[in-house]
Amino acid sequence: MILLDSVTKKYPGDAKPALEEVSLHIEPNEFVFLVGKSGAGKSTLMKMITKEEIPDSGKIIIGGIDLDYVKKRHIPSYRRRLGVVFQDFKLLPRRTVYENVAFALEIAGMSGKEIRKTVPKVLELVDLLDQQKKFPDQLSGGQQQRVSIARSIARQPKILIADEPTANLDKLTTEEIIALLKKINDFGTTILVTTHNEGIVNNLQKRVVTMKDGRIVDDQKDNGIYKLDEKPQAKVMTGRAIQTPGHALRPRKRVIQ
Ligand code: ADP
Repeated sequence: MILLDSVTKKYPGDAKPALEEVSLHIEPNEFVFLVGKSGAGKSTLMKMITKEEIPDSGKIIIGGIDLDYVKKRHIPSYRRRLGVVFQDFKLLPRRTVYENVAFALEIAGMSGKEIRKTVPKVLELVDLLDQQKKFPDQLSGGQQQRVSIARSIARQPKILIADEPTANLDKLTTEEIIALLKKINDFGTTILVTTHNEGIVNNLQKRVVTMKDGRIVDDQKDNGIYKLDEKPQAKVMTGRAIQTPGHALRPRKRVIQ
């Protein structure tokens, strides 16, 4: 579950907040597109989830973890519980496909035996088993993104977030990547994707949350379509967040080991 309750964030020096009283509740196993023009606040919202940025006010609970209580030294281990996919893949250039995935498991503390069992399974899922000995620069953009996705799902995260994962890919490859994310979602992972790609949003008919000027202005629960200009619905969104189990909003101490 992803829960943001009335989250506000203003970067130092900016006149207006990047996020203003944003409330969003994503249930386990949902697939959600986050859309909005450039500067709407999408990346900042993603950074709230990864705790790359801290809100000025509001509450954030991710997978049962209240981020107020994730101390600085625990942020890396918190992030390893999420799958995070980037638009520029962020692969290790001097490591093979196999090693890129294995390395992520190694730093998460998995044993060599488990790693040798897990990596081929994950590479098979993203259809890259036959490319495992190649280095990133020997792969197409779509293949590199599949390695990046393999790396992010290898630890079986409950939540996967992807900020513009198809921005650098052509149309066919984009469709392939979205189909892969959908497959991962079908296996039970909650997925939140930001995108500017109208075609994929309209094709997939999933939930679509639209942001504008730091606010959520539209939230289409099913069969969502890509539309950027809606009136703010801040009140409706606040109501949604309050409907979630009350205990989730009560501060409680929670530290990740
Ligand atoms: P989007 O991802 O929708 O393009 P962002 O979250 O990147 O939107 O940006 C939202 C607003 O916050 C914009 O006005 C942007 O200029 C501002 N912003 C984003 N990152 C920073 C930063 N590190 N420092 C100052 N302002 C920022």
